[in-house]
Amino acid sequence: MIVDVHTHTPTHREAVPPNDLRVQAMWRPDRPVTPTCSWADYLAGTRPASRSIVFGMAFPPGVDSETMTGIPYPPGTDINELTAEFVAAHPDRLIGFLSVYPDHPLALREIDRGVRELRLRGIKLGPNYQNFDPLSSPAMAIYARAEELGVPVLFHQGTSPVRTAPIRYAHPLVMDEIAIAFPRLPVIMAHMGHPWQADCIVVIRKHPHLYADVSGLFYRPWSLYNCLRLAAEWNVMSKLLLGSDFPITTCQETIDGLRRVNRIIEGTALPPVPEEQIEGIIERDSLALLGLDR
Ligand SMILES: [Zn+2]
Repeated sequence: MIVDVHTHTPTHREAVPPNDLRVQAMWRPDRPVTPTCSWADYLAGTRPASRSIVFGMAFPPGVDSETMTGIPYPPGTDINELTAEFVAAHPDRLIGFLSVYPDHPLALREIDRGVRELRLRGIKLGPNYQNFDPLSSPAMAIYARAEELGVPVLFHQGTSPVRTAPIRYAHPLVMDEIAIAFPRLPVIMAHMGHPWQADCIVVIRKHPHLYADVSGLFYRPWSLYNCLRLAAEWNVMSKLLLGSDFPITTCQETIDGLRRVNRIIEGTALPPVPEEQIEGIIERDSLALLGLDR
């Protein structure tokens, strides 16, 4: 079974009207990206995964998601309800995560509503995009509730091209301190903390419940090769989970990109990333690791 742990809630239920369509050049070095997509676009673009984790991101009132993340949900969208509605339409295929803005006074209540009423099964946070200090006490209260409820948290990690998003809030070394404070909390560190994959590797190596996803890496082939070699040498390949970051990439493109990892060293004496370990990432039962298989 192929599990994609990192996908974004589609912006539109039906086909995207031409006026709503966006095309952005900032996300990938190799091609522009369309962050707007329909439910059907999502279901096609996340194949061949048979299960996908899907989420949006919550912002304080008055802050719009297009400015902060480039993904234009219609103004006034309740992102957790939108995710829950999509998941409820495809329960065999999708697992939804909620999102909260930790500095919002009702954030803990929204977690409870998301888990109990909306049947969402984890939490997505982007400390840089949401502009909150990941080591602040409101943020710590979010992790405490997540640990208590036994729901995993996926953090955006590493850089982003969004000008208003403070990069230091998403540095992977911050996760070490969170994991020390909440040792039972399952965490996914997105994008292996790019471009600080080495820092991500040392953090997932020491904490049993910390994992990293490989989304958004393949289109920088030299850094992909380097970080997977490093992960193999530090013996953390088993902590890497498949993620696509759809709609930034499709799941199939991601799988193809991972399988091509050793192509750039052909004809050199550089050591390959072991192919069976690449297949291990693609086939990993991430839901069991995260406690989401029940
Ligand atoms: Zn993402």
